[in-house]
Amino acid sequence: MTKTIQLHGSDVQNAAQRIKNIAHRTPVLTSSTANKIAGAELFFKCENLQRIGAFKFRGAYNALVQFSEEQRRNGVLTYSSGNHAQAIALAASLLKIRAVIIMPEDAPVLKIQATKGYGAEVLTYNRYTENREEIGRKLAQEKNMTLIPPYDHADVICGQGTAALELFEEVGELDTLLVCLGGGGLLAGSALAASIMSKKCNVIGVEPEAGNDGQQSFRTGKIVHIDVPDTIADGAKVTHIGNHNFDVIKRHVHEIVTVSDSQLIETMKFFAERMKIVVEPTGCLASAAALHHAYPI
Ligand SMILES: *Cc1c(COP(=O)(O)O)cnc(C)c1O
Repeated sequence: MTKTIQLHGSDVQNAAQRIKNIAHRTPVLTSSTANKIAGAELFFKCENLQRIGAFKFRGAYNALVQFSEEQRRNGVLTYSSGNHAQAIALAASLLKIRAVIIMPEDAPVLKIQATKGYGAEVLTYNRYTENREEIGRKLAQEKNMTLIPPYDHADVICGQGTAALELFEEVGELDTLLVCLGGGGLLAGSALAASIMSKKCNVIGVEPEAGNDGQQSFRTGKIVHIDVPDTIADGAKVTHIGNHNFDVIKRHVHEIVTVSDSQLIETMKFFAERMKIVVEPTGCLASAAALHHAYPI
């Protein structure tokens, strides 16, 4: 198991300084209809309107902007099913760093095309038979490139946490913060932000029902590995949460709950029809928990 360094809320504040004026400060939307359904006052942090269409740009840029001269020359390598790939590709192109991305061959075609569009080289692998972490480690070693994994990395976690930091800055303290959970980059970062901005806030991770490895890990106190889950939340099709992530989650997260794919679809419809915004399935996890009462708020 990799050794983890202890992260703090101040690390998220430092990340916020690094990405300032480069990542978008995304809007916070409200909906009286959503409030009525949830029986609570909800604030939606719209990271679907972030650069590349997801919060992943925050963590990617926070990691790459700290590269040494030598790391910049040799380039960055990563593996991702989608949004982290695009995030690394865009951040690398802004910083003029070469990027190689390993993507599952069944990743959404749009996400593969977008990643190439930002100028990255894309290699594909079979997510059911090959281990992307092994492929990544080997390639990084051979080519002397720096591997920035999608969630199990301190700079990625702290970058992702800047979204929640902005939310607290804008709306003040909250009783509950529901966070979409795949590998735990966003959840760990958000929990660190909450630990300094809203100390009494209950931070809750929300996973797809089919992939509740995070919930199992949280309840047993050990990282649980599962098979690739079958869910429309493609950004949460991970088999286990990360070490750095779990370290923070154990310290700062209160509960992990799940929602079903049909609840995700209903939530996507709600966003499209009532709030006129397009949100991908994985980005609906937290909202689905509020609208379908997966956690009492
Ligand atoms: C990556 C991603 C998630 C999950 O984030 P983790 O940091 O892996 O937990 C959720 N929603 C969207 C849209 C994502 O791109």
